[in-house]
Amino acid sequence: MGFKAKARKHRKDDPSDKADTKKKSNKGELACAISGCEKFADKSLGGRSLSLDNALDMWGEGNFTATKGRVRVCKSCYRTWKKENKNEDTY
Ligand SMILES: [Zn+2]
Repeated sequence: MGFKAKARKHRKDDPSDKADTKKKSNKGELACAISGCEKFADKSLGGRSLSLDNALDMWGEGNFTATKGRVRVCKSCYRTWKKENKNEDTY
């Protein structure tokens, strides 16, 4: 029982492991598909994937990059889109 706890504690002290975690939380890997936006669309950073039609409605043709019918947007672009498309939610 005590063996596992000890092993885990040892891992936490590893400096290389700590550095890797820090790197991951600071920068994303997936760039936002909206042109002019320099944020990241990683899931871990709140990024979302919109359909091609949704993106066309919002930003217009040529103003974003679609990948396989999906448009990866960052958190703030998604919020902008949601703001403009909340008609269905209002009563
Ligand atoms: Zn964006």
